[in-house]
Amino acid sequence: MDASLNTPPAPTVIQRADYQPPAWLVPEVTLAFDLGTEQTKVVAALKVQRNGQSQTLRLNGDGITPEAVLVDGQPTNDWRMDGADLLVELPGDAHEVSITTAINPAANTQLMGLYASNGMLCTQCEAEGFRRITFFPDRPDVLSVYTVHMQGSKDLFPVLLSNGNCTQQGEGPGEGVHNATWHDPWPKPSYLFALVAGDLVANQDTFTTMSGRKVDLGIWVREGDQDRTHHAMQALKDSMEWDEETFGREYDLDLFNIVAVSDFNMGAMENKGLNVFNTRYILADAETATDLDYDGIEGVVAHEYFHNWSGNRITCRDWFQLSLKEGFTVLRDQLFSQDMGSAAVKRIEDVRVLRAAQFPEDSGPLAHPIRPDSYQEISNFYTATVYNKGAEVIRMMRTLVGPERFRAGTDLYFDRHDGEAATCEDFVKAIEDGAGIDLGQFRLWYSQAGTPRVTARLDHADGVATLTLAQSVPPTPGQGEKQPMVIPLRIALFDPASGTHQGEQLIVLDRAEMQFAFPGFARRPVLSLGRGFSAPVAIDAEISDEDLVFLAAHDDDPFARYEALQQLIVKHLLAVLDGALTDAALEAGRGAIAAAFAAVVGDRALDDLMRGELMILPGEGYLADQLLVADPGAIRKAREGLKAYLGRSLEAGLLALHDRASAVPYALSAEARGARKVKTQALALLAAGVPQRAADLAAAQFDAADNMTDRQGALMVLAGLETPLRQEKLAAFLARHAGDPLVIDKWFSLQAGSLHPQALDHVKALAGHPDFTMTNPNRVRALYMAAAVNPGVFHVASGEGYRMIGELVRALDPINPQTAARFIAPLGRWRRIEPLRAALMKAELERIVAQPGLSKDTFEQASKSLG
Ligand SMILES: [Zn+2]
Repeated sequence: MDASLNTPPAPTVIQRADYQPPAWLVPEVTLAFDLGTEQTKVVAALKVQRNGQSQTLRLNGDGITPEAVLVDGQPTNDWRMDGADLLVELPGDAHEVSITTAINPAANTQLMGLYASNGMLCTQCEAEGFRRITFFPDRPDVLSVYTVHMQGSKDLFPVLLSNGNCTQQGEGPGEGVHNATWHDPWPKPSYLFALVAGDLVANQDTFTTMSGRKVDLGIWVREGDQDRTHHAMQALKDSMEWDEETFGREYDLDLFNIVAVSDFNMGAMENKGLNVFNTRYILADAETATDLDYDGIEGVVAHEYFHNWSGNRITCRDWFQLSLKEGFTVLRDQLFSQDMGSAAVKRIEDVRVLRAAQFPEDSGPLAHPIRPDSYQEISNFYTATVYNKGAEVIRMMRTLVGPERFRAGTDLYFDRHDGEAATCEDFVKAIEDGAGIDLGQFRLWYSQAGTPRVTARLDHADGVATLTLAQSVPPTPGQGEKQPMVIPLRIALFDPASGTHQGEQLIVLDRAEMQFAFPGFARRPVLSLGRGFSAPVAIDAEISDEDLVFLAAHDDDPFARYEALQQLIVKHLLAVLDGALTDAALEAGRGAIAAAFAAVVGDRALDDLMRGELMILPGEGYLADQLLVADPGAIRKAREGLKAYLGRSLEAGLLALHDRASAVPYALSAEARGARKVKTQALALLAAGVPQRAADLAAAQFDAADNMTDRQGALMVLAGLETPLRQEKLAAFLARHAGDPLVIDKWFSLQAGSLHPQALDHVKALAGHPDFTMTNPNRVRALYMAAAVNPGVFHVASGEGYRMIGELVRALDPINPQTAARFIAPLGRWRRIEPLRAALMKAELERIVAQPGLSKDTFEQASKSLG
């Protein structure tokens, strides 16, 4: 056999610089769907208008064939296929082109385009799914007014939904069939099209907008799930009100519908007037959802709603501009959640996500700027960089000008570009003009990849404190040389004697090296730098353990306080990993951390939500990221060793904390949620230090639990322990929640993510469990993503973890390439892992790339990871 047959065709690389305006526009489109699970017929009538010189209309397709092509109502032969695309020759400037296609939703396992999920039909079109439904210029800068006719079986599809407003409903054609027409007056790109047909019931409510418009709200779910939609509905109403108050944005249709779907590749989708959600971001009650689930629902409902302006009214010119809508909308949902709950804890959580998910992207083979320059498959760019770092970049603009001027900038942006397909540059320009700031150099954040490193040193002489800062941006693929960035840093200088400071200041580091002088300090002050995480950078400050202990106890900025404790632990663990610590130094380091933890556990002024946050040790991935070459086994050992020390030395305090928190009854208040959080954090430390004691306590918490947060927290701890209680409670959990997919996901996930020494064997066994399926992305992620980010499973020295993920990718790629490609990144870290493991990881990537017929999603990620 010729080896070249195994090589995929050279993939097309799409460049941002090659952008051309569309040759033809489609101001109006009418879609007629004759719905069926196995066969759906689609007739698309496009009013097209020439927008350039070309007489050839290019309509994108993917896996579909035209059954009929009409131009101005007449059959035509003036068309041909170019790969998957349909080309139609048109003589004049304006025509109506009508195309008939037939699709099989039941066979669509990619879950892109129109697909079947538990008997219901639904769509997912972002980024390029619409071309799997019909032929169309499937690009975000072609905006059309949509009218959608649907007909289908009343039995199978009693509810028929699409974007906009329902303008007609009726019986027929024929026995047992009904139909509906939907019209969306707002021009939109094809990726925002949505259709849902199924047996659904709604939780209905209304919202009156600031100008007095009454909007009907509906959250559509399966019969029996209505009672679990109240939190999502409240989040929706809160979001609508918040966006009016905070950004002056009002909703613009008479209807807003949300549909929850159990088979979904992502979290949710902001289709105009008809958001489609993964069930996990809609359904919640105390019995089945954790406090984190509640937060996730609130954040995602808000995020998708906010897209109505930042994404839908103003969309992206092309997919390179994805951060225009995603970075801005993530910032908007973060600010919303800060206002709804604890702003301090929300900020810390967001930073933890950034460090766990985005920093590794920035330091790995898939590093890209928030506005990428090229891609093979756009689905691969729905990344933490585009989303979360994108949000940080816009947050920095807000920090630089303050909230009021920032609002003037966003007002101008919404005014200036409403109804357009815009670019990141349009956004930056609007903030510049509206807020009155020069963002010339700041634009580097859009083009340079990599996490900037800032070094800091504070000197003190003659009553003057001098801060010396230097920055560098590490090289990333395709970008060897970097220019200095604009880095806003919020700082405070504490008087160590009084424990206070004279006010926070904002300084801006915009050159390679700078000095800032602060007179009036008789004593050397303690430096608090990067307060509120004011820039997405890594800071190496020359700061003593003594100063870190001081800040961990006294800093009035909650993030800075958290960060000081984290830094203290990171410094200690890196020294342990370095292997150069004497026994005395090891003991002293642990002792200092235990003292700081004891202060946190016992600090009466702290609320429990914040206390719980402070009790979380830096993650293994974050620790690995601090090292040029990491040994994941050694990191686990060092981190667990410290936890064990803390669990033993703080046993009494942790038991007392657990005891106190256990007396707080279930409620959604901050106090009760905080109590649940510290309970599980206390258990996690005790489990490392005094496992038998912790097992009994966890089992008791499990048995007494009247809510999922307590039950899952206890089970998570038990799942990592060698105890008969482990099996007993796992079985009880499964029996209690049989038939509830979202909870069964948790059951898979907490075993795959556990600290148990045999966790890898557990994952392998779970893959054969009757509740496991490869066709549901939530289930696949619950088992395998939890395993891939658990160093105790993924990085076992034998390489079995890599082999397991590699096999998963190869098996999943033909079913669902988008989800399969997401599993490449953990293997792609091989350059930063010790040589023996690195070789095994690389070999697995090579096996993946060699697989015949690999999707371009997976091929792009795997080949780039090999470098
Ligand atoms: Zn989004």
